[in-house]
Amino acid sequence: MSKILVTGGGLAGCLLAIYLARRGHEVHVLERRSDPQKDASSYTDQAYFRGLGVTMTARGIKAVLDAGIPKKELELCGESINGMSFFVGGKSKIRKLEPIDNLSPLSLDRYAFQKLLNKYATINGVNFHFEHKCIDVNLEQKSLTTLDKNGDFNYISGDLIIGTDGARSKVRQAMQNAIRKFEFQQTFFKHGYKNLVLPDATSLNLRKDLLHFFGMDSKGLFCGRAATIPDGSISFCICLPYEGAVSLKMQNTLDISQFFSRYLPPMPKDIHNEMIKQFIEKPSNDLINVSSSTYHYKQNALLLGDSAHATAPFLGQGMNMALEDAQIFSELLEINRDDFQKSLSEFTQLRKVEADAMQDMARANYEVLSCSDPIFLMRAKYANYMHKKFPEKYPPDMAEKLYFTSTSYSQLYSLQKKQNVWYKIGRIH
Ligand SMILES: Cc1cc2nc3c(=O)[nH]c(=O)nc-3n(C[C@H](O)[C@H](O)[C@H](O)COP(=O)(O)OP(=O)(O)OC[C@H]3O[C@@H](n4cnc5c(N)ncnc54)[C@H](O)[C@@H]3O)c2cc1C
Repeated sequence: MSKILVTGGGLAGCLLAIYLARRGHEVHVLERRSDPQKDASSYTDQAYFRGLGVTMTARGIKAVLDAGIPKKELELCGESINGMSFFVGGKSKIRKLEPIDNLSPLSLDRYAFQKLLNKYATINGVNFHFEHKCIDVNLEQKSLTTLDKNGDFNYISGDLIIGTDGARSKVRQAMQNAIRKFEFQQTFFKHGYKNLVLPDATSLNLRKDLLHFFGMDSKGLFCGRAATIPDGSISFCICLPYEGAVSLKMQNTLDISQFFSRYLPPMPKDIHNEMIKQFIEKPSNDLINVSSSTYHYKQNALLLGDSAHATAPFLGQGMNMALEDAQIFSELLEINRDDFQKSLSEFTQLRKVEADAMQDMARANYEVLSCSDPIFLMRAKYANYMHKKFPEKYPPDMAEKLYFTSTSYSQLYSLQKKQNVWYKIGRIH
């Protein structure tokens, strides 16, 4: 049994902790926020106290179930998704998704899911240290210094440090300092975002079982997504440029109102006004892409989830990949009989190529979601038709594989490229 220090008890950190505890390790999770079972405030939308919807696809679901969490309990955290709706030119065009493995994607209440993970981590004997912010990482000594809510410094050491502390990871920073040729790139997308949350989505008449996308007719100006979660609330993620007439900087009620009327579905006056109010009041957030050349340091430390490969949410895969990371690392420990040295370097080898493919696809998807392409939906139909007719030659539709299977991102990416070639050939003839 080894003592493992997990820095960051978010989604990846908690699921990983469950896997490690189930393997018999002594696991300590150091989390700067408070205990989600006792205090919701740091886990939910600060202004409107609601959890925000994130989409969990088959790979995320499989990673959670594999850790021994019952499917029924997971399903209570989300709404089942059966398709996507693209709001173009004032009308919604629906693309149905056909389940492959009897697993439907979920639009998750993030807070409910976090509580579920914490519940099962506690059941499996994970030791939580809430309100402990990691402020220093000593990779050679495999130790951490934290600052707790009383302003006291604490020191803890173990046999392995795992950084699941998100896009601005402290563990990754320590690795940057320690590894001579550590290559690291942090890029910001041209757009940032605001999350607008309505506690009751009923009057919007948007189907709960669809993911709603907006902005395809905005010529690259903006991209928006909305999803309902089981408590009945809906969150709109609005991605816009930071500057300009139509941007996150808009403060003029009329400008915002015109923007909403032009691109979002029709809504009752009071809801429309509430959205404008939130847009003015809420802060904007950045969309960061993080890429590191390695995810491990000797046999001492590992990065997993957003700390290794944070990306913008245009493919809806950041959390899914983070959860799958935890599952894959546990599988490597099983194969290598908990040999950290082997498992850590194999993790980098396996996951780096997947993260790169996932990030490339996310960037490409942004262009699709924010640019006018009236043939986009026809193209999906064409792909399905062709695959049914020529299953050996024509690859299946990438989106369905992404939502319903755990096909590796690198395979999906090459599938997408192949489809693009086929599609071009199809258009030429
Ligand atoms: C607007 C938006 C929408 C998204 N939608 C989707 C989606 O639909 N589907 C999807 O798969 N992904 C989505 N994502 C991405 C997803 O949110 C992330 O990929 C996911 O949260 C990564 O999980 P994580 O545990 O690695 O990191 P995080 O969720 O960032 O968790 C990091 C944890 O570490 C803690 N921490 C940080 N620093 C310290 C420290 N110094 N000391 C102690 N604790 C620390 C934090 O408090 C937090 O609990 C979206 C992201 C955004 C921004």
